[in-house]
Amino acid sequence: MPELPEVETVKNDLKSKITGTKIVSVNALWPGIVKDTPYKVFVKQVEGAEIIKVKRRAKNLIISLSNGLNLLVHLKMTGHFLIAESSAEISKEGKWLKAKNTDLLNDRQNQFIRIIFYLDNGMILAMSDMRKFAYIKLVGDKELQTFLSSYGPEPFSPEFTEERLKKILRAKNIVVKKVLMDQSKIAGIGNIYADEILWAARVHPLSVSYKLSDQDVKAIYQNIKKILKLAIEKRGTSTSDFRDTSGRKGTFGDLRNVYRRTDLPCPECGGSVKKITVGGRGTHFCPVCQKEVK
Ligand SMILES: [Zn+2]
Repeated sequence: MPELPEVETVKNDLKSKITGTKIVSVNALWPGIVKDTPYKVFVKQVEGAEIIKVKRRAKNLIISLSNGLNLLVHLKMTGHFLIAESSAEISKEGKWLKAKNTDLLNDRQNQFIRIIFYLDNGMILAMSDMRKFAYIKLVGDKELQTFLSSYGPEPFSPEFTEERLKKILRAKNIVVKKVLMDQSKIAGIGNIYADEILWAARVHPLSVSYKLSDQDVKAIYQNIKKILKLAIEKRGTSTSDFRDTSGRKGTFGDLRNVYRRTDLPCPECGGSVKKITVGGRGTHFCPVCQKEVK
């Protein structure tokens, strides 16, 4: 699932490629991607509107329109936006038939187009989503603010200090990995980066969060920033479905130390990476380097 670095990559792409363009028309191959608003109403509201801003909050994308409404987009498991020239062609089943960019044509992950926005700059904005969990909602500013206020601080915001993280961790008598992935506590961290952050901090994913030492908290704090920053530079992780708006993979997966490296050597000690389940999610760690604090 796309996490902060992947959604940030998409946001940056969209910001530079579609800000200031007008949506000429919309064509949903699967109208179910639009949630809460009848599809016909959605089309009426969106067609003719100008895209004035693209933002990210947690794992959400917010595309603000000139008519005062916003497209609130969650990519969920396999959703990703793709941008192509208007001469590109997509079949009724959502497969690329024609495109200058061969990454669109050749990568299977890009062949599940559910909705297409035709823009007045001669480009098309399409969303591919194999699993059909991604959604687009049309919301006013007030509804948007209410929805976004349920999220914890952004890892790169000034309010996310080491002290704040200490408070977040000390308030909980649950395992640390669950706290890191709780979007109401910290925004944007999911399964991949939680595993990588905890390995880099030498903290066991099952350690009880309120019992972590000041040194552990410091290590987690520093590695949240360091790893998310590096992952943004590498345009995310594409060990499974994620692609950027050109249909290309991010390369942070090449740098990962434990995530989905079960039984492979830990880069620090050479021991085997183990996999357990935490909160229903596959969790990867090194039992030698990461000692459990009970
Ligand atoms: Zn190790």
